[in-house]
Amino acid sequence: MHEGIAGTGVVGVLHCGDGLSYGLRADMDALPIQETTGLSYQSVHDGVMHACGHDGHTAMLLGAARHLAQNPPPRGVLHFIFQPAEEGEAGAQAMIDDGLLERFPMRAIFGLHNHPGLAARQFATREGALLAAFDSFHIEVRGKGCHAAFPEQGVDPIVAAANIVLALQNLASREVEATKPLALGVTKFHAGDAINAYPSTALIEGCLRYFDTAVGAHIAARIPEIAAAVAAAGRATANCIYKSLYPPLVNHAAETAIAISAAKEAAGVDNVLAQTNPAMGSEDFAYFLRALPGNYMLIGAGNGPATPPCELHSPHYDFNDDILVLGARYWAALARRLLETPS
Ligand SMILES: [Zn+2]
Ligand SMILES: [Zn+2]
Repeated sequence: MHEGIAGTGVVGVLHCGDGLSYGLRADMDALPIQETTGLSYQSVHDGVMHACGHDGHTAMLLGAARHLAQNPPPRGVLHFIFQPAEEGEAGAQAMIDDGLLERFPMRAIFGLHNHPGLAARQFATREGALLAAFDSFHIEVRGKGCHAAFPEQGVDPIVAAANIVLALQNLASREVEATKPLALGVTKFHAGDAINAYPSTALIEGCLRYFDTAVGAHIAARIPEIAAAVAAAGRATANCIYKSLYPPLVNHAAETAIAISAAKEAAGVDNVLAQTNPAMGSEDFAYFLRALPGNYMLIGAGNGPATPPCELHSPHYDFNDDILVLGARYWAALARRLLETPS
């Protein structure tokens, strides 16, 4: 076992014999959310909870690792990768930057995440883009503060910023091919302190999701242009900081076919959605899939209308323990198929 990769990352290595090497990855970080489930096993750390089920992912991969160590495949090497900081901090890229792929060479890598919107016992994935890229923007609009009774003496950054918000809405509808998905919006707008004074600055922040990197490049160029031009029309100025956070998650064909066959073995052929719809959410496993072939699989966590809500990132979220064994069975089936496939 190897610890301290990208801070708290851990890699367990199972040498079964000469042969190809593969990576199986579980994320393990929690979220800054106060748990309100009231369960006997709820988080004992105030303001921190496993609201995305990464503790469940870790348990499933550990279960598979124990089973495979006791019943090793005839050849090959398995790297059990326990990754920190999946939630918005690109822990996958941090592990790559810390030499993960040089220290533990692997031919392909696989990920698994629980999905409350999918029935328990079901699996879902797809070849190609499954999850979207994630970028953010931060615009500071600068005017000139003044008394609210004498607006002509200042430059109102609030009206200028409001016009920027409206102008940005046209990007998706007028500048991107209608067949290419783009979710773009302003999610923060902060300005002003006093009811009788115009402030000097207004702050706008937001994010976008897309699949096509050319769409992302276009938006990255256009947001600063639009912000500057609309601010200038209102005699204000705008300074834009644009960040590309996560790339799109794109599953590779051959590895996805193997993952689907393993899921069918674990759950039955009728319980695997092999061509599920892409979703506009994002996931930092995308960094691994940019560096290596691989597949990202969803396992249903069962959130029917009759059950209490357990959406990811909710303070009420409770990982569905009924899928623990199925998840471990998927990992074990996948490992066997990978290591038994002739190189
Ligand atoms: Zn997660
Ligand atoms: Zn999450």
